[in-house]
Amino acid sequence: MVACTRCTRAWPLGTPECGRCGAKLVSRDEHSLQKVWALWVVGLMCYVPANVYPMLKTKQLFTVDESTIIGGAVELAHHGAFGIAAIILVASVVIPLGKFWAVAFLAVSVRQRGGFTSHRRLLMYEVVEYIGRWSMIDIFVVAILSALVQLKGLATISPGPAAFFFALSVIFTMLSAQAFDPRMIWDAQDNDNEAPDHG
Ligand SMILES: [Zn+2]
Repeated sequence: MVACTRCTRAWPLGTPECGRCGAKLVSRDEHSLQKVWALWVVGLMCYVPANVYPMLKTKQLFTVDESTIIGGAVELAHHGAFGIAAIILVASVVIPLGKFWAVAFLAVSVRQRGGFTSHRRLLMYEVVEYIGRWSMIDIFVVAILSALVQLKGLATISPGPAAFFFALSVIFTMLSAQAFDPRMIWDAQDNDNEAPDHG
């Protein structure tokens, strides 16, 4: 049998496309890992300028201030806004780096025999899926922050070029995680079971 990855209806093996939703049916996406790595690299490449270029441009009466993600978080902490600083650090450093690591871990581990149980790989996959939906929180923080400051009329804050790269990075890592075919987890388990040291 082969399952439709879009609507989960199962069809006999060899059926070219899903009769219910029209999606193409493939038992295994043979290029899955290749796509995962390609998108992963692009995501990482976008993540670098996202941290190097300014995320926020603050215009006060006579001065223009530019701050990067981390610089902005440090500055916020100086002003006593530890909560927002923590959210920014978690959303723009901890979550993206964790996601890069987790996707790479999955892609490497399905090609290696033994070492990890399928349960742990599946758990990792679910973690990646779960944190993915929180990764845009940083963009929201920037949006809320600029709205707040502009309401007060003290300064104008606008997103810098880093915001664009950050959004790109999030999109590419999301696509990278999506390109991962979770069925490879179970194939890896079959390989493990066939290995001689497992009998
Ligand atoms: Zn379908």
